[in-house]
Amino acid sequence: MKSYYVRTFGCQMNKHDSERIAGLMEAVGYVPVEEIERADVIVFNTCCVRETADERLYGQVSSLKALKTGGRPDVLIAVGGCVGQRDAEKVLAQVPHVDVVFGTHNIHELPSLLEAAESGRPAVSVLKEGEAFASELPRSADKPWHAWVSITVGCDNHCAYCIVPAVRGRERSRTVESIVTEVTQLVAQGVAEVTLLGQNVNSYGRDRSGKPRFAELLQRVAGTGIPRIRFATSHPKDLSDETIAALAELPALMPFLHLPVQHGSNRVLEAMNRDYTQEWYLDRIERVREAVPDIALSTDMIVGFPGETESDFLQTLDLVERVGFDHAFTFIYSPREGTPAAALPQTVSRETAQERFHRLASLVKDLAYASNLREVGQQRACLVEGASKRDRTVLSARTPHNRLVHVPVPEGRTPESFSGTIHPILITQAHPWFVSGTLGEPPAPQSPRSDRR
Ligand code: SF4
Repeated sequence: MKSYYVRTFGCQMNKHDSERIAGLMEAVGYVPVEEIERADVIVFNTCCVRETADERLYGQVSSLKALKTGGRPDVLIAVGGCVGQRDAEKVLAQVPHVDVVFGTHNIHELPSLLEAAESGRPAVSVLKEGEAFASELPRSADKPWHAWVSITVGCDNHCAYCIVPAVRGRERSRTVESIVTEVTQLVAQGVAEVTLLGQNVNSYGRDRSGKPRFAELLQRVAGTGIPRIRFATSHPKDLSDETIAALAELPALMPFLHLPVQHGSNRVLEAMNRDYTQEWYLDRIERVREAVPDIALSTDMIVGFPGETESDFLQTLDLVERVGFDHAFTFIYSPREGTPAAALPQTVSRETAQERFHRLASLVKDLAYASNLREVGQQRACLVEGASKRDRTVLSARTPHNRLVHVPVPEGRTPESFSGTIHPILITQAHPWFVSGTLGEPPAPQSPRSDRR
């Protein structure tokens, strides 16, 4: 039997698409292998959101040339995802030993492209816009108890630094029926948690004459009986009061919100074309906290955007402090060719950007630790993922607030016997990036209203 290996770069949408690539490969008779060197087909599902992502990809693909010239001439290498979509034939110019290039809109073509490449001629197919949704393809899950469910693809916003609209296209929403059907099937397969995915989930349905919108979709998905629901990514300008109300009302909707703010200065937010102000953002946060007082909040922040001054940056620090995020992803601005910001003069030196990055990262770490400290003594219903990456004697789990928890594996049990189960865990200790605790007895089956927190 022929084997395949998928390497995934970048965002959750790519993780979703990789589960579909795996499902497609298995549907045409391939089996997965753990080691890249052993695979008959190697698929790179790529990301181009920052320069580092490009470099990593071309570096890794280049290193596979040795595999082809070193006794495995028949191995097929395919490059898909956002670099495939952006570069198409240019991929072959940079790494001529690649056999297949496909994009973000035509994952379904991969098996036929591989067949064509078996003739020895590279096969390149990239569509400008797509009609099909990758969600309609077979799925082979990375974690059987969790599923990425895409509700929209593409993005209609044009944030000045962002390459996504260029590689993922215009925003398209799936029908609510297709999403509810998918989640209902996942519940029947024993999936405990779904993450609803989109570049901007809050504008769900806008391209379908606005009906239904995101809050109603959340109600419908909760109606399937799925135990836990998460969603990403939200755009602050479209976070509606109805969605905030759903966060308070729906027990299955986890008390966690990722709301990228990107910057604290209105001048820079305008230059980024984010279409909201610091005041609007803080108002949304206030509303969310009124509705769900103990909600956990995370965000994305960029430092070093063209034109950013020290006073702009201080406004970012001030906003982060005022919100008191439980977690934040911090990035140094990376100019992307083809984005409006790439044409702006780069006024912030690498040293200054790095210095600001470290100040922000240190504040974020302090706030994350303070947030974890507040958890000590709390008992939380946690979804156990399995063995922690570094230590098989330790279980990794997630609280409803999306906090990483480590607990010792009980004597005589294996980590796998806990994967995908929901257990109460008493939080006993805080660390900067995670908490640790003790495993309680699994609860007797209870009504969904009780202690989801
Ligand atoms: S909302 Fe902005 S940052 Fe997010 S994917 Fe769309 S253009 Fe990019």
